[in-house]
Amino acid sequence: MYKVLNNIKLSKNFRIEEFICKEGKGEVLIADGLVERLQRLREYLDKPITIVSGYRSPEYNKKINGSPKSQHLEGRAVDIKVHGISPEEAARAAIELGFKGIGIYHTFTHLDIRQSLVNKVGRQYDYWDMRSKR
Ligand SMILES: [Zn+2]
Repeated sequence: MYKVLNNIKLSKNFRIEEFICKEGKGEVLIADGLVERLQRLREYLDKPITIVSGYRSPEYNKKINGSPKSQHLEGRAVDIKVHGISPEEAARAAIELGFKGIGIYHTFTHLDIRQSLVNKVGRQYDYWDMRSKR
């Protein structure tokens, strides 16, 4: 865990501030490989990406009723909006680029680099679509 003193540039298009917990004191955790993969997605799509949610502290995760095993708690997940394309299109690209957890929501796409898969159907990634749920 680091306290952010400067808005350090992590890659060509992403800065550390974008990953910081939305509520807290500048806490952030970023797992190895997340930024690199996100940068690859940014270049693959060639469109600006907004990180809606990156790291979540345990307190914040509880407050928003996040899953107790949320990958956001481990710094392995981001919820993103990609300018000009649908959450589903972003999800498709993320699968191509090797993200392991992919969730489609009405207004954003959840992506993570989980280390073990939940599904037992032989897919190389976990996938869920929340658009039909409320
Ligand atoms: Zn998420």
